[in-house]
Amino acid sequence: MNSTTIRWEQDREGVVTLVLDDPAQSANTMNAAFRASLAAVTDRLEAEKDTVKGVIVTSAKKTFFAGGDLRDLIRVTPDTARELFEGGLEIKRNLRRIETLGKPVVAAINGAALGGGYELALACHHRIALDTPGTRIGCPEVTLGLLPGGGGVVRTVRLLGIADALLKVLLQGTQYNPARALRNGLIDDVAGTRDELLAKARAFIDAHPHSQQPWDRPGYRIPGGTPASPKFAANLPAFPATLRKQTAGAPYPAPRRILAAAVEGAQVDFETAQVIEARYFAELAAGQISKNMIQAFFFDLQAVNSGASRPGGVEPRQVRRAAVLGAGMMGAGIAYACARAGIDVVLKDVTPEAAAKGKAYSEKLCAKAVAKGRTTQEKADALLARITPTAEAADLAGCDAVIEAVFEDAALKHKVFQEIQHVVAPDALLCSNTSTLPITALAEGVERQGDFIGLHFFSPVDKMPLVEIIKGERTGAEALARAFDLVRQIRKTPIVVGDSRGFFTSRVIGQFLNEGVAMVGEGIEPASVEQAAAQAGYPAKVLSLMDELTLTLPRKIRAESRRAVEETGGTWSAHPAEAVIDRMVDEFGREGRGAGAGFYEYDETGRRTRLWPGLREHFTRAGAEIPFRDMQERMLFAEALDTVRLVEEGVLTSVADANIGSLFGIGFPGWTGGVLQYINGYDGGLPGFTARARELAETYGDRFTPPALLVHKAEQGETFTD
Ligand code: NAD
Repeated sequence: MNSTTIRWEQDREGVVTLVLDDPAQSANTMNAAFRASLAAVTDRLEAEKDTVKGVIVTSAKKTFFAGGDLRDLIRVTPDTARELFEGGLEIKRNLRRIETLGKPVVAAINGAALGGGYELALACHHRIALDTPGTRIGCPEVTLGLLPGGGGVVRTVRLLGIADALLKVLLQGTQYNPARALRNGLIDDVAGTRDELLAKARAFIDAHPHSQQPWDRPGYRIPGGTPASPKFAANLPAFPATLRKQTAGAPYPAPRRILAAAVEGAQVDFETAQVIEARYFAELAAGQISKNMIQAFFFDLQAVNSGASRPGGVEPRQVRRAAVLGAGMMGAGIAYACARAGIDVVLKDVTPEAAAKGKAYSEKLCAKAVAKGRTTQEKADALLARITPTAEAADLAGCDAVIEAVFEDAALKHKVFQEIQHVVAPDALLCSNTSTLPITALAEGVERQGDFIGLHFFSPVDKMPLVEIIKGERTGAEALARAFDLVRQIRKTPIVVGDSRGFFTSRVIGQFLNEGVAMVGEGIEPASVEQAAAQAGYPAKVLSLMDELTLTLPRKIRAESRRAVEETGGTWSAHPAEAVIDRMVDEFGREGRGAGAGFYEYDETGRRTRLWPGLREHFTRAGAEIPFRDMQERMLFAEALDTVRLVEEGVLTSVADANIGSLFGIGFPGWTGGVLQYINGYDGGLPGFTARARELAETYGDRFTPPALLVHKAEQGETFTD
């Protein structure tokens, strides 16, 4: 058999270097060609064993090995799961043959070795990683709803022990840089250059002519013990609790299967453990949730970041000097994000003190990063030196981008743009971070409306990866492309949406909040409502999030929206949540966390203590309970259906943007793969989703009636795809 993806190079001493180099792709993956190549080189190693002194596995690509081929994995169905299972076992058998050859085998990890790449390295006796910025090591399969199916569970358990394998490698999917991978025992050595990498690999081969895996040595025991040992067994009940903490009861199947594969596999011999792992792997790959997660966190994210929504034909351009107007919470965060990416920032507020306070935020973040060893003092100093606080418009001269983040007031925003539009560079990009004001109307305050665009950041800016770019009616393609490039320049993920009240993210998260609040109004136990949100997989419970955002904000937005609807001759249809919010504010004076009282009670330090008992007294009614599944699906459907309406309205034009925006911006549950993928992956597909929406509409109100676009797509057998 031919080896097309693994090159065999043997030197005079008999050291064989297996060079991973798939000619058909930019990265090596565990595809069919690799499977055949691995079988071929394994046969050859065994046949020519007497002339082989040792083996170095390395790659000719920038990365070491990318792992399972996700294009294949996303297509696995229950019918083809058997094939995947068999194929996986074949790879495992061959890796096992190589690790038991009786010759030293070294992984010279020259770049990222994640998932299958790290599994390949685990089958080697010694792992050395090249210290490059791109080298990442670990098993991130769990983040795609999978488990490491190439021996990764079996070998990490035997290398590190069950507890460390689970907590450090398998359950979180942590991606380590070489230094941390070394400290945590994932690798054995680090090299600074490629030459050193290969020299160290050779040195290992010279020093260990009969190398064996620890687990193949006589008397080997799994570090830390197995469930059969009383000491370990005493710790076992803690694992399901850890899992519950990680998933909060949401339907993520992978962590549970990983736990099972690790614990069950530790109690049997190596070969049986491999079969157990393969079985769980095939089960996960055939399931819907891994498909959702692969679609979103791999394919959609790649499409979004690579510019599927960026207009072509506009030369990429880097921002060198940005003006940030308003040094409050958002402005301070935006200034930090820009400066961290190497952009000079002029941070303007009304007084020098206010501007300095905005810069102090970066000082605090930098000090923390230095203390934690995440950056050096020099880099922190350089970052801070790039931020110039000021109260003088004249200091904005030469800025090639403006990001406005003053109070949410259209007249004020007009005024600040007027002040600076002739001071900054004549073609400067003009962005507003408004969260609710229509961009088209804001643009009317500037002379160059074509260069005006919405750049909606999320709080806290330094942590949140998403930026929602909003095109106004007169925003030009060049401004859109430049805004896109700016977001990428500061290493965030841009989605592009049209101008509509609340844009995409704020409008859709509003549906989630409204649904939770409405349930309280129906008399359902508030604690059950919170539990339903958590078990649906929302990172923040619905009433606690409402408190964070304040109860007065939706009232303000509602008043504006209502005015807009009525001005154009429409009638406002009230959401049942509105009455609850009004009572909370008007009758009970509970405006949310900022005011120290909302759906929850807070102590003097602002910490949430418990749900406000008055809720039960004033709202909860015996017999008002509804099925738990309905509670969860009301929240999920409310968001998904409104997203479909946004597609109908042309505000959203990209499915990937919708999915990524919902996951990264507003906490739509990760297992769904995003708000439109949730519909695609729903039991019974679009027809199943539509039927269920009709059921919900009948019981809970018209807002669940499926929009025409959804019905049409369901009838045509289509899904939401770009
Ligand atoms: P903030 O109140 O913390 O900060 C506003 C800052 O603007 C203050 O420091 C104020 O002194 C300054 N300012 C007022 N007039 C000014 C002027 N003429 N020139 C320069 N600076 C002036 O508000 P924030 O939470 O940072 O929000 C700012 C903007 O970002 C708003 O439009 C808001 O809707 C939007 N936004 C907020 C969030 C959020 O989570 N808070 C999220 C996304 C977008």
